[in-house]
Amino acid sequence: MDTLPQCNAKSKQSGYRCKNFSVKGKKVCWIHGGKSSGPKSQQGVEKIRNLKTKHGVYTRNAVEDRIQFRKFLQEADEMLHRVEEQIK
Ligand SMILES: [Zn+2]
Repeated sequence: MDTLPQCNAKSKQSGYRCKNFSVKGKKVCWIHGGKSSGPKSQQGVEKIRNLKTKHGVYTRNAVEDRIQFRKFLQEADEMLHRVEEQIK
């Protein structure tokens, strides 16, 4: 018979690791969120997302924006070079 692994959580008060067994398929016990399967409603998902987002620099949209902006700068630069060539 295989034993369940220990919960990964560490107590904020004592600093010791939680001695409970983790929930099957999870890394933490039921007290430390093993029972929770995350937010269900769109509102809940949004709430967690906002709580976990610190500055949004690495969100998919922000990264995509930077890529687009870099492309735009490159194109503008190339255009400028072409204009310079024609002036010469
Ligand atoms: Zn625990």
